[in-house]
Amino acid sequence: MGTLEKINGHTYYCPGATNVGVVRYKNGMVLLIDAGIDSAAGRAVAQALEAEHLKAKYVLLTHAHPDHFGAVKFLKEQYTGLERYASAGEAIYLTNNLLESRALFGASPLRELEGRFHKGPVLALEGTVPEGEVEFGDKRYRIIPLPGHTYDQIGVLTGDGVLFAGDSLFSEEIMAKYGFPFLLDVEQQLQTLERLSAQEVSAVVLSHASQVYSSIQTLCAQNKARIDEYLMKIQKWCDQPLTREEVTEQIIVSAALDPDIAQYQMTFATAGAFLSYLAKAKALEKSVISGKCYYYRT
Ligand SMILES: [Zn+2]
Repeated sequence: MGTLEKINGHTYYCPGATNVGVVRYKNGMVLLIDAGIDSAAGRAVAQALEAEHLKAKYVLLTHAHPDHFGAVKFLKEQYTGLERYASAGEAIYLTNNLLESRALFGASPLRELEGRFHKGPVLALEGTVPEGEVEFGDKRYRIIPLPGHTYDQIGVLTGDGVLFAGDSLFSEEIMAKYGFPFLLDVEQQLQTLERLSAQEVSAVVLSHASQVYSSIQTLCAQNKARIDEYLMKIQKWCDQPLTREEVTEQIIVSAALDPDIAQYQMTFATAGAFLSYLAKAKALEKSVISGKCYYYRT
């Protein structure tokens, strides 16, 4: 049974494996921010709404990872008038559920990359949301681009000053558990952290954290420190020429991770994001020698 926790004004959330934002309207309708991974997660949200005699009218999706949107299928069956929105870039993945695992593997993917965390249901959307002010019903929201974790992730700032930050920020607990959380573009993520740091918010909800944060600056600083730490580590490891597989191995071994194949592939993608960032910044050189692509410090 899900619960509805008040944050500020009309802004609430349903705590869960993926926290779901809820904004209440006077007419008993709500706007959701993300939805959870599957029918069970969707049912928990629906139960929390029913307990307060509320119905879902809109859902804004921060990004196209199935743990955020998988439950929309169930919710659309429950609330047939539900209108679904995402950024234009994420909509491409939401409407084609093969792209995520194909992009992650770079080719026709291994079966292990087509599990529930990588292949969600195909979603139809009623529309896309641009950057900046948007209106749903009689309420206004600010859509903040937060690329890095995915290319077109967005955050949603409600009229009550509550920011739903998706996976643009991770808690210390998550970073400790996963070594380095999934990242596709380091440069964009650094810009996202700067943008977030400048936001004036009354509260911040991360998709995967057991608390609501009252300040965003500390979180941004912790997340930036984590990126800087890995940029330093990778450059040091590359004093000896290393392949992308070997850099992935170093990340896994140094953080004492025990990944399955899908988790390995996510770390491999993240290692690629760091290597391309360092190569573009001319901090690393790269060459193919005897059939291996090496990265090394210049
Ligand atoms: Zn994600």
